[in-house]
Amino acid sequence: MAGRQVQGIGMTSEKTRQRLVDRLRAKGIRDDRVLAAIAATPRHLFVGEALSSRAYEDSALPIGRGQTISQPYVVALMTQAILGEARLGKVLEIGTGSGYQAAILASLAERVFTTERIGELARSARQRFHSMGLHNIFVRHCDGLTGWPSQAPFDAIVVTAGGVVPEDLLLQLAEGGVMVAPEQSGKHQRLIRTTRTCTGFEREDLGAVIFVPLLEGVE
Ligand code: SAH
Repeated sequence: MAGRQVQGIGMTSEKTRQRLVDRLRAKGIRDDRVLAAIAATPRHLFVGEALSSRAYEDSALPIGRGQTISQPYVVALMTQAILGEARLGKVLEIGTGSGYQAAILASLAERVFTTERIGELARSARQRFHSMGLHNIFVRHCDGLTGWPSQAPFDAIVVTAGGVVPEDLLLQLAEGGVMVAPEQSGKHQRLIRTTRTCTGFEREDLGAVIFVPLLEGVE
């Protein structure tokens, strides 16, 4: 037990997290608000104990049920892509998974609404947010492709699974709102930022990414 505690201190030390932040900065993440959120969020609490020693590597890790916690670089890139000058009000996430991306968003937005199609993952993320005192995150076990109509419109929507985004979801964006989503075309995924303007939607390609698939229905 003592050994584990000593290892625990090493893993969670500010130095370890700062190394991850330095790596993300070197890879092109420039927004200080995003880097501060990464520095302040204990990623080891979002993975199982067996993987906690790898929590501050810049890689995706398994979280059970065939799903993954996203790579920190990708979390930072998506978060940076939705931030404007003003503080975010409401943000919707599709694909709660471990809850890590939602926790990062929660430090930068007033309220985060997150949806997960696998009941077990939704429940454990809810518990995690509760024990970490993250009271501005609301989790719903549902097919996120339908969005969260009763809370719309959103300032931003973050989709953390790759697929085809239905138009209904885009229509839950406020005017000036931004969605980031990995879109599947053939075997490849591209991270697309879509901005809702007064006349329609503007699309921008942010590069190649790899996410688990966006699936219909609930489990
Ligand atoms: N944001 C997560 C990444 C999890 S991986 C994190 O930071 O850990 C993507 C998640 O999307 C998986 O848990 C998967 O079950 C979920 N998912 C896939 N399709 C979905 C859908 N239609 N609605 C809600 N969740 C979905």
